[in-house]
Amino acid sequence: MSLIVVGSMAFDAIETPFGKSDKIIGGAATYIAWSASNFTSPIKQLSVVGGDFPKNELRLLEERGVILEGVQIKENEKSFFWSGRYHMDMNTRDTLETHLNVLGTFDPVVPESYQDCEFLMLGNLAPAVQLSVIAQLRERPKLIVMDTMNFWMEIALEELKKVIAEVDVLLVNDSEARELTHEFSLVRAARKIMDMGPKYLIIKKGEHGALLFHDDNVFFAPALPLEDVFDPTGAGDTFAGGFIGHIARTKDISYENMKTAIIFGSAMASFCVEKFGTERLRELTKEDIDQRIIQFQDLVNFDIELV
Ligand code: AMP
Repeated sequence: MSLIVVGSMAFDAIETPFGKSDKIIGGAATYIAWSASNFTSPIKQLSVVGGDFPKNELRLLEERGVILEGVQIKENEKSFFWSGRYHMDMNTRDTLETHLNVLGTFDPVVPESYQDCEFLMLGNLAPAVQLSVIAQLRERPKLIVMDTMNFWMEIALEELKKVIAEVDVLLVNDSEARELTHEFSLVRAARKIMDMGPKYLIIKKGEHGALLFHDDNVFFAPALPLEDVFDPTGAGDTFAGGFIGHIARTKDISYENMKTAIIFGSAMASFCVEKFGTERLRELTKEDIDQRIIQFQDLVNFDIELV
């Protein structure tokens, strides 16, 4: 039984008020795989890259237990490219360029060896691709988690709503939740989104943590206050990787376990932002992750007596 990760694998160019990167490795599925591989193996990756995507990057993922049979390599085409510029608060950003390249015509083929999928992580990419993957799986996975972004709300809203109706857990950030529902209150927005299909909703709020909604319950995971944030790119995907990685490791899809999973997600995201791109995720040890989970425990642990 395994975890399938679907999403973009890409080149990114990032500008922050403190620095600028050249074209570096990025993509939703790349971040998810680097993050989730700390918790579970194998990860079965489903994506597409061009001939320009470094083969060494693929080899490094394989060394982490990521199976690439479902990653198409279009030798004569270019990989997906995204560039963005962060504002001074490092929480909000503008997309400067999105070049879909190989992603524009991506027709995913789920390999036979992926059919044993227990957990499906639909990372950010075209909703039509996300739908096609769900449709190709003969048996419905135990849990389908989906991430998306405003880009797809703006150009493929109807298809996006169809995928949202099929999934168990939706992950969006606060501005995306508002854009999707036209509600300012996140509680109202959450209710509207859960009415669209997902039983669980995670709203990421960058440096202000993340909220997990289910029925009338809401649970909050903080983000770790960090002295330096270099690059928030991929933090959402890294969060998703920690979340689904923990669920796949424990095989427990209860609401209680999802609370723990969003703490793992937040811990992984806190590493991601410490360096540019995937750099920090590549050097993590189990001790680093354990230490950080303890920091999270200390951050929110308090005794209180009722008056
Ligand atoms: P995050 O910061 O978690 O929202 O994720 C940023 C990553 O998403 C970058 O590495 C981009 O390559 C990737 N990305 C940006 N726009 C898109 C898009 N429209 N579809 C798929 N992936 C995207």
